[in-house]
Amino acid sequence: MQSKKRIFLSAPHMGGTEREFVSRAFDSNWIAPVGPDIDAFEQEIVNYTSASYAGAVISGTAAIHLALMLLNIEQSDEVICSSFTFAGSVFPVLYGGATPVFVDSEESSWNMDPNLLESAIKKSIKKGKKPKAIILVHLYGQSADIDPIMAIAGRYEIPLIEDAAESMGGLYKGKHTGTFGRFGIFSFNGNKIITTSGGGVLVGKNSEDIERARYLATQARSPAVHYEHTCVGYNYRMSNIVAAIGRGQLSVLDQRVERKRAIFERYRSALEEIDGVGFMPEPVWSRSNRWLTCITLNPAKIKKTHEELRLALESENIESRPLWKPMHLQPVFSHYPAFTNSVSETLFQRGLCLPSGTGMSDDDLTRTIDTVRSVLKRS
Ligand SMILES: *Cc1c(COP(=O)(O)O)cnc(C)c1O
Repeated sequence: MQSKKRIFLSAPHMGGTEREFVSRAFDSNWIAPVGPDIDAFEQEIVNYTSASYAGAVISGTAAIHLALMLLNIEQSDEVICSSFTFAGSVFPVLYGGATPVFVDSEESSWNMDPNLLESAIKKSIKKGKKPKAIILVHLYGQSADIDPIMAIAGRYEIPLIEDAAESMGGLYKGKHTGTFGRFGIFSFNGNKIITTSGGGVLVGKNSEDIERARYLATQARSPAVHYEHTCVGYNYRMSNIVAAIGRGQLSVLDQRVERKRAIFERYRSALEEIDGVGFMPEPVWSRSNRWLTCITLNPAKIKKTHEELRLALESENIESRPLWKPMHLQPVFSHYPAFTNSVSETLFQRGLCLPSGTGMSDDDLTRTIDTVRSVLKRS
């Protein structure tokens, strides 16, 4: 029998007003994938992020799929993807049968390396096939170096989709991640910085794009009483109840970012004195939401591996998780082209995400820190 309370990696954390929003939606009987809370949630996302337009959907993955369809990605097309990410940012490329081309990370941000990106584009062009889109991930809440990537995307006229699933509330040069490219997506899955239990949003610069996304996401129904269909549709629209939860969550997002950053600072101040412990960087041009605190263990200085540390935490009923396994190493993607430099592989071999839930108490944090210190100091 485990007697110690479970500490989760990043558990949902309601702000308090969600229940009221949901109650009101019930009282008005808007239990549907249309309704006033969807409209209001979309508007509040636009207000918060300064994105131009927003369409709420059932998941971040669905939002990426819609963005790819809006860019007319076809089976013969290539789409450049960050390799160091969660698979949800790549699967939609395969839904339409297109080919992902993986690009590795730079050390300074752990996100897409602009030089490797350009090599990948050049190689594709040489083969006579310019990539049709770039899906750029902002990992663990930390933005990629967007300016050089936008410059390359602009030079080759390739549209950019920002996968900001993990980085809502995070900034690049003072502006919200997800608002730079033609499209951006956010996720409200259960462990993200804010959650609706499941959900996502597509943001974009053109109103026609987002309108078409809404159309595709509601079974492509053309306005006719009998429902006229001229293309394949999807059932991707967010429900009004889910949007009601989102409105409450969005109202506490700033507090969540502050708390995530404070959690990171506590880990850093407690662990940085241990020789060989590293932290996810935060370049001066960015402000991370610090969705998850990520540490690395340098094997030349620390004998314990990240897996041994994970197991030691688990035996204390504390959840932690290795950094994302790079997509180019995943069996399902291993036969696709990849431009690598060993940065993501090395991080995967060394890194661990520590519990970072904003609902975690200071005592939970102390318990986690004490465990990590005692394991590593014995090392
Ligand atoms: C969570 C996540 C997604 C997928 O979002 P869902 O809402 O779970 O579909 C995509 N990309 C990244 C980087 C993610 O972390």
